[in-house]
Amino acid sequence: MKNESICSMNDDFAKWYTDVCKKAELMDYSSLKGFIIYRPYGYAIWENIQSYMDKLFKKTGHQNVYMPLLIPTSLLKKEADHVEGFAPECAVVTKGGLEELEEPCVVRPTSETLFCEHYSKIVNSYRDLPKLYNQWCSVVRWEKTTRPFLRGSEFLWQEGHTVHATKEEAMEETLKMLEIYKNTSANLLAIPMVTGLKTEKEKFAGAEATYTIEALMHDGKALQSGTSHYFGQGFAKAFDMKFLDKDNTWKYVYQTSWGVSTRLIGAVIMVHGDDNGLVLPPRVAPIQVRIIPIKQNEEIVLNKVLEIKELLEKADIRVDIDFTDKSNGYKFNESEMRGIPVRLEIGPKDIENGTIKLVKRNDGTKLDAALDDNLSNVISDLLNKIHNEMYEKACNHLNNNTTKVDNYDEFKNVLNNKGGFILAPWCGNTECEIKIKEETTATTRCINGESSDSQVCICCGKKATKEVVFARAY
Ligand SMILES: [Zn+2]
Repeated sequence: MKNESICSMNDDFAKWYTDVCKKAELMDYSSLKGFIIYRPYGYAIWENIQSYMDKLFKKTGHQNVYMPLLIPTSLLKKEADHVEGFAPECAVVTKGGLEELEEPCVVRPTSETLFCEHYSKIVNSYRDLPKLYNQWCSVVRWEKTTRPFLRGSEFLWQEGHTVHATKEEAMEETLKMLEIYKNTSANLLAIPMVTGLKTEKEKFAGAEATYTIEALMHDGKALQSGTSHYFGQGFAKAFDMKFLDKDNTWKYVYQTSWGVSTRLIGAVIMVHGDDNGLVLPPRVAPIQVRIIPIKQNEEIVLNKVLEIKELLEKADIRVDIDFTDKSNGYKFNESEMRGIPVRLEIGPKDIENGTIKLVKRNDGTKLDAALDDNLSNVISDLLNKIHNEMYEKACNHLNNNTTKVDNYDEFKNVLNNKGGFILAPWCGNTECEIKIKEETTATTRCINGESSDSQVCICCGKKATKEVVFARAY
């Protein structure tokens, strides 16, 4: 059953991943390390994520804007923590044409500073608030080790930046967007997320609080898949973002930012894929149904597949027909490699019998369906069923690979033999967090909640204050 052209997941998961990226034609490498080419099929997945989320952003009152690509270095330096966090990975432009620039510019690693400068100009009164802006763009962070979709020197993302009159409103926004990310992952990508607050060490440079969505990959490693930050008034003070409130006093705004990136494509590959390649959740799949005509040169087959395609398109099902002259076996493999949720096979005999064959990519199940006008309903229902099955499978994987431990020995044992998310009590001290990372390479993914009274920190043995989710991560 295994597709011979890619490495097996269990033999070498990292190689399996890059094999799938290439063979499913999601991306290609460019001549510059860390800068990938998004091929049509890969880009179409991103477009589907974009259009789904963009609707949710707009429904919740956000507007899209576009900020410049370059940031003057002086602007980036205005918020001390922020520049310290990003300086090591900035690409810097020092020349314009043949002339040295008076002030070097960085290629945006993120656009907080640009939004802040703009908001400081356009926000003057409580009447100007809130401002709920979002930007779809790419950012550049010079990474040493890169992997397609997971870590690149350039990646595509959206960054939301909002300013509010009160702390409560900004906090509500931070959590609202986290919820939108979590729901998108579940409803569009069939991926369950663990959510929570990042520790002080892991939070965003310049944020007061960072919330995260964390997914568990097939190999038991975590993938941070999106973050939502509450900034308080840190940037507001650095950039002098003030407004005249109803009580006639000047106040600093409260701010948030939030983002998800093309990393989500990596998550989809590593959560759902198998030894035959990609397995795409139907709602994000660029092609939901591929029709494979058997004996396609016979006119009766040709006419029938075109008729079926039209019927499915009318029901907003994304469908194509493989009319290439490749063998049927090759076509089946290719459809599987690309993770197309449903394969529809039809030949002269099927037409005679008034049936067609449907094959589900997620579990290989074959079904017969009647060849009539109800087919589009049957397939719509099937696509929903596939989504639910994939989500349930991913939830089971997450639950089966989340382990609660009480001490360091147990922690190391689970980490090295089972992997996955490990819930462990922690004292709240950054030193313990660093020590655990150095000794085991596991990092804190998020804070799960308070620890119980009797628990002690797995590292130092002092009284624990929090239960934390640990994992090895991408
Ligand atoms: Zn400790």
